[in-house]
Amino acid sequence: MINSLCGDCKLCVNACPGNAIIDSLDPKKSYNPKKCANFLINRKKEGHPFACGMCLYICPYGNKNTYNLKK
Ligand code: SF4
Ligand code: SF4
Repeated sequence: MINSLCGDCKLCVNACPGNAIIDSLDPKKSYNPKKCANFLINRKKEGHPFACGMCLYICPYGNKNTYNLKK
């Protein structure tokens, strides 16, 4: 298992509009690709772009400028 760098952070868990992320150290449990895909498919049916990426956007490790973290 890879080491988690998340610590107490739960930003992506709380931000995911598809409820596809849960607070678990096990990567096989923490991300549910079916829920993510279902959210995107439903968004597309509603006429929205087939895109999300909120989890990547909000993560401090992927957005160092916003969260002012050192590299
Ligand atoms: S892309 Fe969107 S729906 Fe999928 S896991 Fe990330 S935040 Fe959730
Ligand atoms: S937003 Fe990034 S650092 Fe925070 S819990 Fe999610 S993956 Fe971990």
